Amino acid sequence: MNDNDIMSMTPAELREYMVSAGEAPYRAGQVFSWIHRGAFPEEMTNLPGSLREKLASGGYRMPRILTRQDSKDGETSKYLLSLIDGECVEAVLMRHDYGTSLCISSQVGCRMGCAFCASTRAGRVRDLLPSEMIGQVAAVSRDAGERVDKIVIMGIGEPLDNYDNVTRFLRLLNEKDGLGIGLRNVSLSTCGLVPEIKKLAREGLPVTLPVSLHAFSDEKRRELMPVARKYSIDSLMEACRYYFEQTGRRVSFEYTLISGKNDSPEDARGLAALLKEKMRYPSHVNLILLNEVKETGLRRPDRARAARFAKMLNGMGQNATVRRSLGGDIDGACGQLRRAREADRAAEENFTKE
Ligand code: SF4
Repeated sequence: MNDNDIMSMTPAELREYMVSAGEAPYRAGQVFSWIHRGAFPEEMTNLPGSLREKLASGGYRMPRILTRQDSKDGETSKYLLSLIDGECVEAVLMRHDYGTSLCISSQVGCRMGCAFCASTRAGRVRDLLPSEMIGQVAAVSRDAGERVDKIVIMGIGEPLDNYDNVTRFLRLLNEKDGLGIGLRNVSLSTCGLVPEIKKLAREGLPVTLPVSLHAFSDEKRRELMPVARKYSIDSLMEACRYYFEQTGRRVSFEYTLISGKNDSPEDARGLAALLKEKMRYPSHVNLILLNEVKETGLRRPDRARAARFAKMLNGMGQNATVRRSLGGDIDGACGQLRRAREADRAAEENFTKE
């Protein structure tokens, strides 16, 4: 954390910071509440002008919204946000009958190398700070004029590869004078970093844990996810059981259906058998139709095949549903907006060099 990154500070740290900057301690509470609502310094009307100027000139870094795409059905808005150093991340707001959820990014890029993913194509650039994750929630909520009820950390990046910043973000998210979002309303999605799953289980942060499986055997999983070369399915299942035992929170499994790779009846049978034998606790499988990324050559099966896959799993006693897609007209794979922006920037640089 940078010394003056005030949106990454807990209320106690902010109080100390304010006092050392010559401000009254009670100002910390006012500042905390303003910045977590995404306010700009000039809007913080109960603060003296000198303090607003200090905030404007350093330490407060709200991400800037570059673009917003709204689906025609009004249910989904996809945001591209720029960070203080010009790097970009994506966030997606989804309006459901039961509330509004926001999917946020945890890193700029990703180094996990999943074969089907746009976010990893150029590797990881850097980790996001807690303030940059809080900033995504505050900026989008403000732009949409809606309170966010649920957070999903499933955008660009592997959250457990940015462990300290993400766990600090979770604690800040829960602060009653800030966004006040209960951790039971947070899902943290991981590709399966076994030691970090176990560490998270001991943090006292009761988030739901969707684990990306995508294949029922180590051999198949290694083809799709390099992380499977490091951690076997056995060790992953053991970590998932441990997570459930420590937190009481349900573990769910993400399974992206890829045509001809993992979508056969044999795959469905293998998956049901694996979870029955190794997970042992009730779990849910979210089947996701692949978001196609042109360069990978991987294709999605049709919806009817996905429905048959789900039916087979349910028939074998394994709870499973096919995830509804986002508003079809903005249903680009995660990471594609950012990549398009990077390509534009590179083209512009080349053009100016000509
Ligand atoms: S799917 Fe997730 S973990 Fe895998 S490369 Fe993409 S962002 Fe990283």
